[in-house]
Amino acid sequence: MIPFVDLKPQYAALKTDINEAIQKVLDHGQFILGPEVQHFEKELFEYTGGAHSLCVASGTDALMIAMMAIDIQPGDEIITTSFSFFATAEIIAVLGAKPIFVDIEKDTYNLDANKIEQAVTSKTKAIIPVSLYGQCANMDEINTIAEKHNLTVIEDAAQSFGAKYKGKKSCNVSTLACTSFFPAKPLGCYGDGGAVFSQDKELADKMESIRTHGQEGRYNHVRLGINGRMDSIQCAVLTQKLKRYDWEIEQRQKVAGMYTEGLKDLEGKIQLPVVRDDRDSVWAQYTIAVDNRDQFQAQLKEKGIPTSVHYPVPMHMQPALKKLVDVRFDLSISEEAGNRVVSLPMYADMPDDDVQKVIEAIKSCW
Ligand SMILES: *Cc1c(COP(=O)(O)O)cnc(C)c1O
Repeated sequence: MIPFVDLKPQYAALKTDINEAIQKVLDHGQFILGPEVQHFEKELFEYTGGAHSLCVASGTDALMIAMMAIDIQPGDEIITTSFSFFATAEIIAVLGAKPIFVDIEKDTYNLDANKIEQAVTSKTKAIIPVSLYGQCANMDEINTIAEKHNLTVIEDAAQSFGAKYKGKKSCNVSTLACTSFFPAKPLGCYGDGGAVFSQDKELADKMESIRTHGQEGRYNHVRLGINGRMDSIQCAVLTQKLKRYDWEIEQRQKVAGMYTEGLKDLEGKIQLPVVRDDRDSVWAQYTIAVDNRDQFQAQLKEKGIPTSVHYPVPMHMQPALKKLVDVRFDLSISEEAGNRVVSLPMYADMPDDDVQKVIEAIKSCW
């Protein structure tokens, strides 16, 4: 089997720097909100082109903190996609609000901006587009709808940190954004981690307070919050990894380009991923779609090629949410995607030979 993701070459390349950075934290002992946290937050501010950035404990906590910052209450409605990782809708429901699902675009799998406005009611508070597989949704259109109806846009950028949309960086293309540094994400740490971003300084300050139990000043709790901080050690690791990240994005884009070139003759049999002209993708996943997925995956497995499905069951069909949500709109594209998508091996240090092996194995399925 070739690996689906192999992070060992990345560690080998950064080993001395990462080990030293971790050692430094062990030596000074400020494990929570140590100097590495502020330092990495400054780097995030610069990297995203000026979004106020706060490190938090995970992508899931980032969503929670962002929604708490705009005072999401039980009964509120939030428009989002059903075709994402569970956390997006989970946290809406955990706060007692209602995820209102609208369908996705068939080619990018992102929220279909044309279907959002029909879902707006007097209870709607926010729109959460997910930048799935590493590519932003139609953020301009979504921001325009939000402005018209006085809603907040929260980009779930857990898979798209570093991606560009019309020359701007993901995480800085809406009022609020959330990302994840889970190890398998494009930029990953060595445990759980995430960040929230805001174009609004006041909201950023509020999120900072929510991140530490709603504190403003020690033991002065002015609002409800959570324990949502990211460890100093994880920030130390990410500062080292960020140095290599733009090169890694280029590598991921190179792998994606090889896949697309190598598989283009199979178009019609497999649906290749589409990236719009005015943006790019950091390729959190390279995801194709096929009709006979189980058989396809079994054939590839036999040839030593691992695959993975992101995500087989849309959220409106998940047992935990089924009883909480009312489905108001047709979600047939999300359901069809759940049945057809399959992701191929993808990581920055993937050898060209392995990419070719995947392409050849797929070609030999027909
Ligand atoms: C990974 C992911 C999350 C959750 O991030 P964690 O750091 O694992 O909590 C949320 N949304 C999307 C789209 C994700 O891919």
